[in-house]
Amino acid sequence: MRPIEKGAAPRQYTDYRQAAGDLEARLGKYCSYCERRLPIGLAVEHKAPKEFHEDRELDWDNFLLSCSNCNSVKLLKDIPDQDTLWPDRHNTLLAITYAKGGFAEVATSLRGRLRQRARSLVDLVGLDRHQATGFPKPALRDARWRQREEAWSTAEFCRERYESLNQTDEALRFVLDVARGLGFLSVWLSVFAEYPPVKLRLIRVFPGTPGSCFDSRGDPVARTALGV
Ligand SMILES: [Zn+2]
Repeated sequence: MRPIEKGAAPRQYTDYRQAAGDLEARLGKYCSYCERRLPIGLAVEHKAPKEFHEDRELDWDNFLLSCSNCNSVKLLKDIPDQDTLWPDRHNTLLAITYAKGGFAEVATSLRGRLRQRARSLVDLVGLDRHQATGFPKPALRDARWRQREEAWSTAEFCRERYESLNQTDEALRFVLDVARGLGFLSVWLSVFAEYPPVKLRLIRVFPGTPGSCFDSRGDPVARTALGV
């Protein structure tokens, strides 16, 4: 899951829906959880549900952007901050791994409490739902796994093009354009794992991705003392 940085609240709101444009300007039109790009239809999502936390209904720090699938799985789940991870607070790239076929799973390197918190984040929006055997089944209209699978295939195609075009700047721009149009930064960083210059540019092309979450090779580094 892409780590994001919203920055300070741009203004005061009298209705939380007013924040949608500001969030999209800061973060791009990507779901904060599943990372797909939605030109329209992203909702302002409350990390702590407004139904239980009236005082946080208009709180910028409580906002993310969410697609309808992530939203409908999350619903009214109310998880204390210390029991989960959040893309605007932690480097969630270190908590979840992505694989060919559209799979998203808790990183096997995580242990103990941190593993539980990563699990909680995955369960919060059902990020690991997949048609394959052994995974929680997605709802009929939940195509997140399929879109992630397609993004992986597209990224692989782009990597082949990038190689066959001798890794020129023009080839790189092609990769960046396609990536920006699809979303799923986590998938692109995984497919281009062996190409640090591409990763560094990908990170910059997705608005609101904090550069401080990456080292000089474009690999994720911890954002907090927790190790993520
Ligand atoms: Zn989503």
